[in-house]
Amino acid sequence: MFHRHNHGIFYLGGLVFAVAVIAAANMEGQNPATVESQGVDSIGTAETIQIRGQLVCLAEAMHDLYRADLPANHEHLYGFKGTDGRFYTLLRTNLSEALFVDKRLHQKTLIITGRTFPKTHLLEAIRFQSLRDGVIHDLYYYCDTCAIRAAAPGDCVCCQAPVELVEKPIKLSPLSD
Ligand SMILES: [Zn+2]
Ligand SMILES: [Zn+2]
Repeated sequence: MFHRHNHGIFYLGGLVFAVAVIAAANMEGQNPATVESQGVDSIGTAETIQIRGQLVCLAEAMHDLYRADLPANHEHLYGFKGTDGRFYTLLRTNLSEALFVDKRLHQKTLIITGRTFPKTHLLEAIRFQSLRDGVIHDLYYYCDTCAIRAAAPGDCVCCQAPVELVEKPIKLSPLSD
């Protein structure tokens, strides 16, 4: 491995440096930060995006586009197709549950705000709105009796009556003079 002397010197130099860094970190009562920060760099950071498009079954979309095998009784694999033609696989979370279970949302043009992760086309939806007649609408579920908002359909946490889907045009804040 070390054919030349200077390789050994570099190696020793690096080792001494690393020991010095660890010693310095320990003196401050902290764990060595170098290893941890290298880890973060290599996985990258999630990116917040806003995409307009429609909910689709990815299995059917890939079948239509590329003749991907589609079993007769397949389980839908829900994802989002942006107007730019990009496909995203949706993570199923408390905030995105409605996108999976409420078929009414499958008919709408949606604007999803969420995060994608490096080297993936996974989408973690944090917020979704609809676009109707050129107007952005907030989408949420609501119990009139208790005035409680919910992210997904189901029974009201308070009175147990089913919450209703609300599609409400967003109020544009009036321009100040
Ligand atoms: Zn399907
Ligand atoms: Zn209620």
